[in-house]
Amino acid sequence: MSYWPAVIVATPAHSNVAHALTYHCETALPVGCLVRVPLGRRDTLGIVAACDTQCPEGVDPASVKPISESLTALPPLGPDWLALVGFAAKYYQRGLGEVALAALPPELKKLDPTQLTRRLTRNTKIRSVAATDNDTPSQETPEASPEQRAALAGIAGADKPVLLFGATGSGKTEVYLQVAADCLAQDPTAQILVLVPEINLTPQLEARFFDRFGANHVVAMHSGLTPAQRLQSWLSAHLGHARVVLGTRMAVFASLPRLQLIVVDEEHDPSYKSQEGARYSARDLAIYRAHTQRSCRVILGSATPSLETWHAAGQGRYLRFDMPSRMGGAALPTLRLVDMQRQPKQTVLAQPLIEAIVERAQNGEQSLLLLNRRGYAPVLSCGACAWKSDCPHCSAFRVFHKSDRSLRCHHCGLAERVPHACPQCGNVDIQTVGRGTEQLEELVAGLLAHAAKADGTPLKVGRLDADTAKGKGQLDAHLAAMHGGAWDVLVGTQMVAKGHDFRRITLVAAINPDGGLYASDFRAPERLFALLMQAAGRAGRDAGFGSRAEMWVQTWHPDHPLFAALRHHDYAGFAARELAEREAATLPPYAAQALLRADAKTQAAAQDFLNAAKAQGQALADAVGVDLYPAVPLTIARIANVERAQLLVECANRAVLQRFLSQWQQDLHALRATAQGRGIIRWAIDVDPLAI
Ligand code: ADP
Ligand code: ZN
Ligand code: ZN
Repeated sequence: MSYWPAVIVATPAHSNVAHALTYHCETALPVGCLVRVPLGRRDTLGIVAACDTQCPEGVDPASVKPISESLTALPPLGPDWLALVGFAAKYYQRGLGEVALAALPPELKKLDPTQLTRRLTRNTKIRSVAATDNDTPSQETPEASPEQRAALAGIAGADKPVLLFGATGSGKTEVYLQVAADCLAQDPTAQILVLVPEINLTPQLEARFFDRFGANHVVAMHSGLTPAQRLQSWLSAHLGHARVVLGTRMAVFASLPRLQLIVVDEEHDPSYKSQEGARYSARDLAIYRAHTQRSCRVILGSATPSLETWHAAGQGRYLRFDMPSRMGGAALPTLRLVDMQRQPKQTVLAQPLIEAIVERAQNGEQSLLLLNRRGYAPVLSCGACAWKSDCPHCSAFRVFHKSDRSLRCHHCGLAERVPHACPQCGNVDIQTVGRGTEQLEELVAGLLAHAAKADGTPLKVGRLDADTAKGKGQLDAHLAAMHGGAWDVLVGTQMVAKGHDFRRITLVAAINPDGGLYASDFRAPERLFALLMQAAGRAGRDAGFGSRAEMWVQTWHPDHPLFAALRHHDYAGFAARELAEREAATLPPYAAQALLRADAKTQAAAQDFLNAAKAQGQALADAVGVDLYPAVPLTIARIANVERAQLLVECANRAVLQRFLSQWQQDLHALRATAQGRGIIRWAIDVDPLAI
C-alpha cells in the first residue's frame, strides 16, 4: 500500500516553499514521527504532519520523492507539541518548518536510526520518582509559612494562570518546589517545566531542585550544554523520563508528553524574549501551552511583574497570590537617596556611602555596588582634536578596557590595542569619558584604601561582570569569593542583581541609574524599577545580619516618582502610575505592537523598503484600524556595517493586528523581489517587541 505523508521541513525564512511537503512511503507513519527526506540535493530532518493514503490533488505522483528513512524508534512528537510550534509560527509570523525544526536539538538531525536506537537504550536509566534508586532526594521540605500556605492553597484550586507576586526572599522558590512535589505525589509520571532567565548565574536554584527531587529526575536545558548533553536532556524529557526540566527560554519548546505544571521564575525578565529568528516570548508561550494542554497549570513568579502580567491579573485573567514578607522576618532594605547635585564635582561615591561601606565591612558584612556598564570607560576622546573612539563598523563608540589595554566594540566585537597617541592628530594625552565597572572597581579600591576591617586587614574589592565571568569556572570562583566572604565589596553590572542568595550583603548601592529615568524607550522605567528592586533584594536576606539593610541610590533626580515608589517597596503604586500613562498613550498592554525591521547596506535602502511596505499595506491597515508609522533608524543604526531601520505597527486589538500581519506578509514577500527589495539584506517581523 502507498502512503503520501505531508512532512514539515525547515525551509529558509521567507522562501516560497510550503512548510509541509508531500513525500511517498510504503508503510503508514504516525503524525509527529521524525523522518529524513530529500530536499534539494540533500537529506533533511522532517516531521510527519499527516499521512494520507492518496496523493493530494494537484500534486503529480510521479514528481513525489520517497522518504529516505523514518526514525520510528523514537515515539512521535505529540499533538500538544505540534500545536505549540504551530501557534508559535503563526503568532510570530515565521515558517512552521523553521520554528518546529529549530525547536529540536541540533544533534538529533545528525543521528541515523542505529545511532538513535543506541541513544534510546542509554536513556532508559532515568525512572519515575517512585522508583527506588541510589539517588533519592536528600533535602527535607521545610514547613510552609502562613503566606506560603495561602499561596499553595490558592494555586491548588487555580483554574487560570497564577501570578505569584512575592518580595525577593519571600519564599517563592519554596512554593514552586512544593507545588511540584504535590504534582508528583498525585501522579509520579507527571512532568514539570521550570523556566529561569539564566541558569549559570543561579546554580543555587538548580541545586535546590536536584536536592529536592534527586539529580536523576531533573534535567537542565540551556545553550551552555554541549550538543550531546542537550540531546540527552531532550530525549529524557520526550521519553517522559525526566520529572523536572529546568531551563532557559528555549526549554519552553521541550517535548513533554506528561507536562502538568510550568513555572516561569522572574517572569518579567527580558531574556524570555528571543531576539533572533522567531522572536518568541517563552513566558507567553508558556501561558499558551498551559492553556491548550489538558490539566496543565502555569505559575508566573516575580517581585516586579511585567506590566502586561500585572494588568492581566488586574483584569482577572490571571489569579494573583501575594507574599509580601521576607522569610525569617528579614526586613526589606531602607532607601537612602544621594542627591548628586549637592555632591562635590567628580564624586564617585558620596562620603556617607563610603563610610557606610566601611562600617559594614567592620561588622563582617558585605556591600554590593551596581553600575550597569562594563569596561573601564565607554569612550576615549582627544582634547586637541575631535577624535573619539568610534567603531568604524558601527554607530557606537568602542569601549576602553584597561586590563588588556584594548578598545572593544560591544556590538560587532572589533578589538584593537588602545593607541598611544590620538590616531588623528598625534596628541598623546587621550582622555577617558565616563565610567564602567572596571574603573569603578579601581576607584572604589582607592577610596577604601585608608580603611581597615575590625581585624586590621584592608577591605577587599571584587568585580563581577561579563568580562570577569567569561568562563564558567570564573563565574563560580567569583560567586564563591562573595559567598565565602573573601570580598567585602562587590562591584558589578546587572549580573550581580539577579537571584543570588548572598547571605552577608546588607548594603546595595546603585551608582548611576539615571539613564533609565528619561530614556526614549517607554519600557525603560519599568526595567529600571525591576532592576533596583532586584538589586535591593540582594541586601538583608539573612535577618541575622539584615536588621539595617540599606539600598543607596546616587541620582541627579532624587524627586523622581520612581524613587518614591522604591522607597516604599511599592511595586503596586509604581505599576498603577505606569499603567495609567500607558493607557493615556495607548501603549502596551493597552495596544498590541509589532515591528517590521529591515537590514541593508545603506540606511536609505532599509528605509525605502520599509516605506514601500507601508505604502503597500496602508489601505488594508486603514480599513481594519491598524496604525503604520514611518520608518526610522534603530537607536544604534549601524552594526558591523549593516544599516538597520524599523517601522512600528500598532493596533488596539491583538487579533486584528495578527490578521493584518499575516496578510501583509504576502506583500512583503512580493516586495522583496522588486527594486526596493533588492538592497535589503534581510527583513523580519518582531511581534510584541520589547525594545522600540
Ligand atoms: P524567593 O524565591 O522568593 O527569593 P526563596 O524560596 O529562595 O525566596 O526563600 C528565601 C530563603 O528562605 C531561602 O534561603 C529558603 O531556603 C528559605 N525558605 C523559604 N521558605 C522557607 C520555609 N517555609 N521555612 C524556612 N525557610 C524557608
Ligand atoms: Zn586628536
Ligand atoms: Zn562595532
